[in-house]
Amino acid sequence: MVDFELTSEQEMIRKTAREFVEKHVEPNVEAWEEEGSIPDEVVLEAGKLGLLGAPISEEYGGSGLDALTYAMMTEEVGRGCSSLRTTFSVNTSLFGNNIQMFGTEEQKQRYLPKICTGEKRGAWALTEHDSGSDAKAMTTTATPQDDGYVINGRKMWISDGDRADYIVVFARVGEKGSPYDPRNKEENLACFVVETERDGFSTGTVMGKGKLGLRASHTAELVFDDCWIPEENLIGDTGDGWDIANAILQKGRLSVAAGAVGIAQAAYDASVDYANDREAFGRRIGDFQLVREHLAYMHQQIETSRLLVWKAAWMSDQGLDNAQAVSTAKLHAAEAVMDVTERAVQVHGGNGYSNEYPVERYFRDAKICGIYEGTNEIHKVLIGGMALDQA
Ligand SMILES: Cc1cc2nc3c(=O)[nH]c(=O)nc-3n(C[C@H](O)[C@H](O)[C@H](O)COP(=O)(O)OP(=O)(O)OC[C@H]3O[C@@H](n4cnc5c(N)ncnc54)[C@H](O)[C@@H]3O)c2cc1C
Repeated sequence: MVDFELTSEQEMIRKTAREFVEKHVEPNVEAWEEEGSIPDEVVLEAGKLGLLGAPISEEYGGSGLDALTYAMMTEEVGRGCSSLRTTFSVNTSLFGNNIQMFGTEEQKQRYLPKICTGEKRGAWALTEHDSGSDAKAMTTTATPQDDGYVINGRKMWISDGDRADYIVVFARVGEKGSPYDPRNKEENLACFVVETERDGFSTGTVMGKGKLGLRASHTAELVFDDCWIPEENLIGDTGDGWDIANAILQKGRLSVAAGAVGIAQAAYDASVDYANDREAFGRRIGDFQLVREHLAYMHQQIETSRLLVWKAAWMSDQGLDNAQAVSTAKLHAAEAVMDVTERAVQVHGGNGYSNEYPVERYFRDAKICGIYEGTNEIHKVLIGGMALDQA
């Protein structure tokens, strides 16, 4: 049975998230963009409301929400601030789910409760300077030593990497500096959790407001220089790294797609208001059919994106394989949010080009949705490949 009526819990979570955004995010988001960071207090407030740990089990301090309700909540956060939504994505969808789905009981007890409250922050590090889409080509190594591993290498573009207390890190088990073997990329990939207070960990370049979008989000280079971690910090077994990364990316991608719907909805709402208020040739601009065409197209794109996100989330909640549905939702939402925000700027005319109006930020923040957690091209490759596998 397919049912579009929201449960009272879903209504309540959406309302809580919307009120949180209206009270704590919307009045401050432009200042955060200007400063290039988000204050910790707002993340702690999200923790208090149960939003930060939304999909994490109640047993470990989360709210135990299903994927569909979490997607609805994420859309609301994305509607207010994509940089903050990115913090939710890496802290919760990536780090939190990684520990919840693949961690030992001891790891869950150790790391999850505090990342749900925001007292501690999580990040997730797969990408390197020379390996993004081709993540299996990573060269960071984890060398077995003294009942643990010594990590050496660099990760690149890690959201909140400089603010995190714990980071999930993927590395190749082997000697320091050993090259990866392109014929056997997966065999020795492993997943670890690294506490950032450990010796040998530091951050390199950190980007905040120097970026095209997500200017309030920090994106860090991570440096591992003989950083020893104990054996108990290994997640799963050596060789499980690639399967773990893929399973977790499904979660993160859905949260990016839901966030994209949020940006698009915000851009549409602003455009409807503007089309009602702004006058040209003695009429409100919303009376011109070409402006209405923009609004109709935006509405259509948002509805289709949201339906695809909800379907992929629903499939996850039913325990169905949703890999193709997630890629389809992510690709569609990422392309749609570019179209929608571009049209929002157009509807606003010259004002849309100014940061006096939020559509300028929405347009800049839209772009990342088609880059991180799999570029649009990679999702096309995945969707096409799955289509052939199913034939
Ligand atoms: C703001 C920001 C935040 C990020 N946060 C994180 C994070 O928290 N953790 C993390 O691990 N990573 C993070 N990333 C990294 C992000 O996931 C990568 O940038 C992304 O996967 C693309 O990799 P790349 O930049 O190396 O591009 P490349 O892989 O070099 O791609 C360059 C171009 O080639 C295309 N291309 C590559 N391979 C193929 C192919 N097989 N077929 C067709 N086209 C192809 C790509 O689509 C793209 O257009 C972040 C990036 C940014 C910009």
